[in-house]
Amino acid sequence: MLTIEGLTKVYPGGVTALQGVSLEISGGMFGLLGPNGSGKTTLMRILAGLLEPTDGRIMLDGEEVTGHPERVWPRLGYLPQYFGFYPELTGEEMLAHLLRLKGVGGPGMLRALGAELLERVNLGFAARRKVKTYSGGMRQRLGIAQAIAGNPALLIVDEPTAGLDPEERLRFYRLLAELAESRTVLLSTHIVEDVATLCPRFAVLRFGHLLATTTPAEARAGLEGTMYEGTVGRDALEALARTATVTQAHLVEGVNRVRLHLRDGAPPAGFVPAAPTLEDAYLLQMQGAAHLLPAGAA
Ligand code: ADP
Ligand code: MG
Repeated sequence: MLTIEGLTKVYPGGVTALQGVSLEISGGMFGLLGPNGSGKTTLMRILAGLLEPTDGRIMLDGEEVTGHPERVWPRLGYLPQYFGFYPELTGEEMLAHLLRLKGVGGPGMLRALGAELLERVNLGFAARRKVKTYSGGMRQRLGIAQAIAGNPALLIVDEPTAGLDPEERLRFYRLLAELAESRTVLLSTHIVEDVATLCPRFAVLRFGHLLATTTPAEARAGLEGTMYEGTVGRDALEALARTATVTQAHLVEGVNRVRLHLRDGAPPAGFVPAAPTLEDAYLLQMQGAAHLLPAGAA
């Protein structure tokens, strides 16, 4: 169980990246969803003991760990948002290097442990290939291999799916889901699909504030009976946006396919009721439409 209480971070220079964030995370996959600059990386670096908070505390399994990163490190695996690799090393050399830095496994064990970890993330076939030949997904899997060395109870992954192509993303989803079966995984992302695919619970962060802690089902249920779908011309879209909250408008075969949110009243002509999606809930939350996700700790 990871408990975060009133976490605040003000960077030197005055940017407030986190403002009184409180959160309880236990077991399985937990999503941290927010746009760029919302404070996700700041939160993860603080949890990983790499950055000191300005205020607030962190408890891991009932033990205060704020200011004591050495209490966290043995139980933590961390995949940073920007993970540096040495392109000229092979996968197994890179991993051995990272394991040595982490102090995991004795000298005689490094090779066996490295091989086991590479198998675990389905990279055994590429162990002797140089990292510079790896695809984005393979690099992320190598990053996961170092993060799960020592079998940590808590795994923190910061925007790991950004930049992966659809096939690699799917593959990476499966790996993360599998890892979350036996540990707590905290996944930060700005991609709603990541949360919809992986996370039974998630929190929404914006401008350093935690806006909501909820489940995808709860978030969708909060919009039940308020979403409509239809098509409109380009001029009509502007007029429509003045009278209703448009969550999505994209061109399909040259016409605007629009999703809109309407609490009361009849929908415009030609619009039909639509099942709410997590994307609707998130976009509405980001637009500041009030109380769409249950606020506070769920
Ligand atoms: P996210 O990961 O959600 O994109 P970050 O935690 O990286 O958000 O950033 C949150 C805010 O803190 C942003 O306004 C960002 O510009 C600022 N910030 C991040 N790192 C630093 C830093 N080292 N010094 C000053 N400001 C920072
Ligand atoms: Mg970030």
